[in-house]
Amino acid sequence: MKLILLGAPGAGKGTQAEKIVEKFNIPAISTGNIIRAALKNGTEMGLKAKAYMDAGSLVPDEVVIGIIKDRLKEDDCKNGFILDGFPRTIPQAQALEDMGISIDKVVDIEVPDETITARLSGRRVCAKCANSYHLLYKKPKTEGVCDACGGELIQRKDDAPETVLARLEEYHRMTEPLKDFYEKLGKLVIVEGQEEVADTTKLVFEALEA
Ligand code: ADP
Ligand code: ZN
Repeated sequence: MKLILLGAPGAGKGTQAEKIVEKFNIPAISTGNIIRAALKNGTEMGLKAKAYMDAGSLVPDEVVIGIIKDRLKEDDCKNGFILDGFPRTIPQAQALEDMGISIDKVVDIEVPDETITARLSGRRVCAKCANSYHLLYKKPKTEGVCDACGGELIQRKDDAPETVLARLEEYHRMTEPLKDFYEKLGKLVIVEGQEEVADTTKLVFEALEA
């Protein structure tokens, strides 16, 4: 199964991707996580991406398309994958088509802008393994500490309130047109993001089985 998760930053794509990984045993590929890892390792690509990311802008298409091309060649993608955070622009979606990759479904998780701003301000991520938590909605067992690996929980630079607004604006301008793109290909399914993660997961699974 080859899936794309679409939605605004903070719509819960990463969280739902984890659930799909568990159920369907296919890897989740997050361009955001790949870029952050590259940044941490001080690679050239990471350094190039840093300024864009910190400002809440999209990283240039050719950079992320290159990342995805390499990643999809790896062995674990043979039986399918979930893309979380890619494509985010029409040229990126077009690049997937040009690679001859036939996507089965595009699940769009819809969440109102007000909810997004509230969620992102409380988001905390593990500095070591990138697992995501929330001060109100998804608390770790011990405050400030990652359940999975014991790493320190920090706020992403791009989750600062000013940057969140820029990211939302980018989302509406650059990414939302993908809904139309995939609707025309007959692949789009829309899920209303719920307050409870489990409720959204139920809708996502229903959408995948439909
Ligand atoms: P979120 O979904 O919460 O915004 P991500 O981790 O997916 O977070 O992305 C964080 C940042 O990484 C984006 O704001 C952007 O700068 C960069 N990025 C990730 N994926 C892409 C992409 N497909 N195209 C362009 N930039 C991207
Ligand atoms: Zn961790």
